[in-house]
Amino acid sequence: MEGLGMIEMDRRRFVKRSALGVLGVALGARISEAAIGPDKRPNILFIMSDDHTSQAISAYGGRLARVCPTPNIDRLAREGMLFENCFVTNSICTPSRSAIMTGKYSHKNGVYKFTALDQSQPTLPKIMQRAGYHTSLIGKYHLYSNPVGLDYFSVLPGQGDYHNPEFIRKGDEHPSGWVGRGKRTAYQGHSSDVIADQALEYLKNRRPEDKPFLFFCHFKAPHDTWEYAGRYRDFLEDAEIPEPPNLFDDYEGRSDMLREQLQYIGSDWGDHTNFEEDTEHLKGQARKKKQYQLYIKKYLRCVKGVDDNVGRILDYLDESGLAENTIVMYTGDQGFFLGEHGLYDKRIMYEEALRMPFLVRWPRQIKPGATSNGMILNVDFAPTIMAAAGVQTPAEMQGRSFLPLLKGNQPSDWRTSMYYRYYYSHFHTEPHYGVRTYRHKLIYFDRIKQWELYDLRMDPREMNNVYGDPEYQRVVKELKRELKRLQRELDDDPADIGDKPGLGALASNH
Ligand code: CA
Repeated sequence: MEGLGMIEMDRRRFVKRSALGVLGVALGARISEAAIGPDKRPNILFIMSDDHTSQAISAYGGRLARVCPTPNIDRLAREGMLFENCFVTNSICTPSRSAIMTGKYSHKNGVYKFTALDQSQPTLPKIMQRAGYHTSLIGKYHLYSNPVGLDYFSVLPGQGDYHNPEFIRKGDEHPSGWVGRGKRTAYQGHSSDVIADQALEYLKNRRPEDKPFLFFCHFKAPHDTWEYAGRYRDFLEDAEIPEPPNLFDDYEGRSDMLREQLQYIGSDWGDHTNFEEDTEHLKGQARKKKQYQLYIKKYLRCVKGVDDNVGRILDYLDESGLAENTIVMYTGDQGFFLGEHGLYDKRIMYEEALRMPFLVRWPRQIKPGATSNGMILNVDFAPTIMAAAGVQTPAEMQGRSFLPLLKGNQPSDWRTSMYYRYYYSHFHTEPHYGVRTYRHKLIYFDRIKQWELYDLRMDPREMNNVYGDPEYQRVVKELKRELKRLQRELDDDPADIGDKPGLGALASNH
């Protein structure tokens, strides 16, 4: 095999040299790669931030657009397409990342909560690598097992550090299979800057020029505990950040989930938003208002750092000429609450945590300034990327390519409902599953056996649970039927509560 490989390499070098020789003389100019028949499939740059939600991206509008604009990320909307209805299938980090990499729901890829991804199954990087792409990932990985299918990687161990982070690079994997145990290399600076520096270094020097690339650039920010770079200390210092109208949601008429969860602003759980020292002199609503301000400013300073660094990367794509044949996608691994319902964090199937930002630019293929309200899911990303590269999707992937939507043609049989499921992990947030259509959302909290139903057209903020309303009984019936249909279609057993040990049993130490 080795011998054959050498011959093949020599042949390619020979062809390249000959072509350069003949054409170089003929044209007296620098020969473009096109002259020697290179791989012209598009490059794919997949940028994902951790917990960056659409309410904090100005292209999506909303109450924060004016106070904290994201002009660089917005460029992708201006020059490409913005998706209004991109949803996560299980709203926490590791499960969403696993769904993205496998094109499958949690119950099929084995990652229900914070457990390791079994890398023996087909994954996006493995398939694209086999198809001739140079595959790489820099930044937050959070799948615990050693990456497979990546020609290059430099990943944070677990959550990693915000300041002066350490990375585990390709070749430094640990033989145990746990990526977090690999040899670490320290970098100086804030994680968003360091990740963008490494991304630029990859694009400039590290990738082979004769292959298209699939490059995952994954920022750690703006995940808690929202430590921003020093240069943003004064950013928003004197601003009064607008509050969501339901910051003081009293949870009336809803399931017990909202009253029992610990992901409310001011919660002691994890000590993330109580800001005890700065707020202990205040009481009641005044205290919560202050906690909200302190929380949201930290979050937005991290967002600003991500946006500035996305700008550096997009500028380089322009300067280098790469932009023309590179699909750039931007997303967050799920949505996030920024005070809506008095909450922070994610998990719950409410709009703010369910919706992922998704913006994509593909020159000459996507009409600039386009928006799509087509319902797309994180499990669709892998099939879409493969389709853009002309690569066949394995049958076991549950997502569907939304390539036609990118080109402005939504197939007549495109989905009109989506299935969601969250498994119990922490924050005392009750597990649940549910179905969302364009108009309604039905949620079942299976441990406490309670339901919520929202009419999103009448009640976009999900304040009025109409599950018991006689006028909605026909809708309840239809949605229960649809929920069952989706469970059958996706082969999810409601009794499977995600407690199978699998590879994940080992992950608790990491
Ligand atoms: Ca996340």
